[in-house]
Amino acid sequence: MTITINAAFDSGNIVVDAIDGTSARLSIRKDRDSDFFQWFHFRVSCAVGDALELAITGLDASAYPDGWPRYAARASYDRDCWFRLDTSYDAGTLTIRHTAESPVLYIAYFAPFSMERHHDLVASIAECEGVTYRCLGTSLEGQPIDCLEMGNGDTQVWLYARQHPGESMAEWWIEGALEKLTDPADPHARSLLKKCRFHIVPNMNPDGSCRGHLRTNFAGVNLNREWDNPTAARSPEVLCVRNAMDETGVDWAMDVHGDEAIPAVFIAGFEGIPSLKPEQLQKYKAFQTALAANTPDFQVELGYSESAPGKANLSMSTTQLAERFGAVSMTIEMPFKDNDDLPDPVAGWSPERSKLLAHACLATLDQML
Ligand code: ZN
Repeated sequence: MTITINAAFDSGNIVVDAIDGTSARLSIRKDRDSDFFQWFHFRVSCAVGDALELAITGLDASAYPDGWPRYAARASYDRDCWFRLDTSYDAGTLTIRHTAESPVLYIAYFAPFSMERHHDLVASIAECEGVTYRCLGTSLEGQPIDCLEMGNGDTQVWLYARQHPGESMAEWWIEGALEKLTDPADPHARSLLKKCRFHIVPNMNPDGSCRGHLRTNFAGVNLNREWDNPTAARSPEVLCVRNAMDETGVDWAMDVHGDEAIPAVFIAGFEGIPSLKPEQLQKYKAFQTALAANTPDFQVELGYSESAPGKANLSMSTTQLAERFGAVSMTIEMPFKDNDDLPDPVAGWSPERSKLLAHACLATLDQML
């Protein structure tokens, strides 16, 4: 019996270089028109009891080689429950070993958030009382850039995710945020909806999501380097969202991501923007401190280094929105590896943890306002 491997489905990505019995040598396809690669998602058909040995090679040239040591691939038999696999990394090769318990096994870089699930989420939230649906524009391949709006307050809050499509935990976070905000029994939601108008974009990069990209859109463009000058030709996904933000203004913004290398949850801010205001930075720091008090999944020790005064890269959304609107804006980063402070040997960082982090972020925002 020889296994078969296939990735011809939503967010699938793998190249089969060789198969020998229950072993395979694999590699990851680059994002279209770019050199980025790291996301993988494929299906293994095999026999129950097969001792699978899958080697993904060439990873020293991947987008984040530091992402592989101490990383464990995720797998699922039912595409609902995802668990960690025995995974090792050496000299550019990630080796996954698993004894098959069912004839069909899905393996991915992180629990996928499919476009079908995206459409289910948008449709079910759009039905909720008090929610307005807006299509802000379309992607290069014509997919809608969906936005869900709710709340009656004056504080304009923008939540948006998956500029980097391979960071699927970001849309799990959004699902958690939307569930909380539309729960009529949730006290934070009731309070926030009185104080704020929410604008929520669950997926900024549907083309990259379908195509199994890590970091770019159909044109190979990293959307989180387009915010100073988005164009219809390269980055209509950013252009339509930024235009909508120009109409509403932005007081608070959360841009949701996953980080390949750092085994912790952290946020990054806008310290280096030219127009930095002390009270703007003070609110950001207060949010960070309060979030750390509200959930042990968040910490402040590990993270990115802050840019020097006046040296911020304004092509990124967090810094652009802070500069453009005086917003308290932040990039939220969740791990592909695990939260080393509270590791979960079975699931690792997971969809469930991502959703609960969104709950904590919203509770903290409520406290700040
Ligand atoms: Zn990212």
